[in-house]
Amino acid sequence: MNRFEYRRPVTLRDAMGAATVPAAAILAGGTNLVDLMKYHVTQPSRVVDINRVPGLDSISRGEDGLRIGALVTNAEAAASPVVAEHHPLLASAILAGATPQLRNMATTGGNLLQRTRCYYFYDAAMDCNKRRPGSGCPAIAGVNRIHAILGASKSCIATHPSDMCVALAALEAQVHVSGPNGERVIAFADFHRLPGDTPERDTTLEPGEVIVAVALPDAGFGANHTYLKLRDRQSYAFALVSCAVGLRLEDGRIAQARIALGGVAHKPWRVPEAEQLLVGHAPSEDAFAAAADRILRGAQGHQHNRFKIGLAHGVIIRALGQAAAGTPQSQTDKRIA
Ligand code: SF4
Repeated sequence: MNRFEYRRPVTLRDAMGAATVPAAAILAGGTNLVDLMKYHVTQPSRVVDINRVPGLDSISRGEDGLRIGALVTNAEAAASPVVAEHHPLLASAILAGATPQLRNMATTGGNLLQRTRCYYFYDAAMDCNKRRPGSGCPAIAGVNRIHAILGASKSCIATHPSDMCVALAALEAQVHVSGPNGERVIAFADFHRLPGDTPERDTTLEPGEVIVAVALPDAGFGANHTYLKLRDRQSYAFALVSCAVGLRLEDGRIAQARIALGGVAHKPWRVPEAEQLLVGHAPSEDAFAAAADRILRGAQGHQHNRFKIGLAHGVIIRALGQAAAGTPQSQTDKRIA
């Protein structure tokens, strides 16, 4: 058994203070942290339960867009009429993930901080640079079907598992954090890291910093969006490849495009240059294929996951087609149109 100290602060200030000790872990819904502790993957010295910190559990709309508190559950966010009206892409991506039971517990902040599902990371008997820096990455020569094809390094080829974060990347969300040095706002593209030589760090959060909210600008792509997720089974499975798309069409041409991929890299993958390739064009399979080519430039497979490169190409084209037609992927009837 791993001994740890349990703290349940009732102010944000106390939560930040409690989280500054080495190896402290923040507990919200616990849907990932508790598993990691049971498997001996994570051995926090102190668990800081923030569920009694007030002010983190509401969704509000202001002049600068939508603000979703860190403790808002995934189920609450997906069911929110405000989210459904202004950011249906986000609601769709949330509903593509996990199960109703998990979404009832999992929180907005926790979703951003969930860790990779790499098999070797979860097996404490195996080496793993992310779990034990410098020990090696057995996935590179091992079973790597679910691993990255973009942005990987010689130290780690893990993927980020979230669906919600793929939509947040496409929507250019901002992450509001509070820490010992005050408050700051992190652009979503800068929140998650690529593995490089330090795969043990998933995000750019500093010690003691706590996520307080995620903010979304008003451009929610209500008319033309989709979240398309391909996985080994239709429910309760992580994405092999997923794609969030938001388009703004004017006079039959693409005026703005956002495309983010999930299941392919250590963070949601966006290539703004590829999005720009679409601007000014009428929606067409040729234009979509050119964007897909650009997004996947440099993609590199390993023994078991090379299929993801072709799969991702097809998913991008299909998702762009769904968004352009205004026929977003249903997350209940999961047949792909
Ligand atoms: Fe560990 Fe990353 Fe390698 Fe998986 S891919 S074994 S998480 S270092």
